[in-house]
Amino acid sequence: MSIDNLNVSLSELGKFDAIASEWWDPLGNFRTLHVINPVRLKYIEDILTLRNKQVLDVGCGGGILSEALASRQALVTAIDASETSIRIAKNHLAASGLSVNYVACTVEQFASENQQQFDVISCMEMLEHVPNPESIIDSASRLLKPGGHLFLSTINRNFKAYLATIVGAEHLLNMLPVGTHDYSQYIRPAELGHWLRNSGMEVMDISGIRYLPFLHMAHLCTSPAINYIVHAQMPV
Ligand code: SAH
Repeated sequence: MSIDNLNVSLSELGKFDAIASEWWDPLGNFRTLHVINPVRLKYIEDILTLRNKQVLDVGCGGGILSEALASRQALVTAIDASETSIRIAKNHLAASGLSVNYVACTVEQFASENQQQFDVISCMEMLEHVPNPESIIDSASRLLKPGGHLFLSTINRNFKAYLATIVGAEHLLNMLPVGTHDYSQYIRPAELGHWLRNSGMEVMDISGIRYLPFLHMAHLCTSPAINYIVHAQMPV
């Protein structure tokens, strides 16, 4: 199957591939992901114990979250449509002493062969980069065991989020390359909730992630007005 038929935007993949060498530079173009990583890991760990869980990290990029999950003794598989990012993730892993099974493929391809295999799926900062985010969620629901947990993070679609993530982070503060985000692909929590319920899942929590741009610090908050993280669960 050609990549054009898949739920992949080649222009989106190209944006990440162009800066992929920086995945593990904590002060580089992916600095914001390094800063929010402990926050999203703690969010997951406040809900469940990762040790010995079968975990799938979808759209893993260079493996920033995948390695953090593996450091908690989870049994981690991590997938990304970009061969370039997967290569960088594998190289970094070699020096880490951790174990992650990295695979270059889309979640739709992966779901056709691995139904009901995972206790936990994470899909962070990825839904706003795919043509059909609902298909990602549907695939995740098929990959989860009964009672399995899904964690998603993305960006809300409203004027405040536009100001913070595009005008502020990309144009004024140079925190991200200009063009990283496409406002029309941002997702309202209600839309995400609708897709999750359509896939048979229950929304357990929606929290905000607040990023402090000058301090480069992040913390959880109640308002999902800009960046937010969602916990959903398959029925048992
Ligand atoms: N989840 C990681 C990386 C987020 S960046 C983190 O938060 O640290 C978004 C990633 O999604 C990029 O690595 C990009 O290659 C990947 N991606 C984009 N479209 C994809 C698709 N359709 N299937 C799988 N991965 C995709």
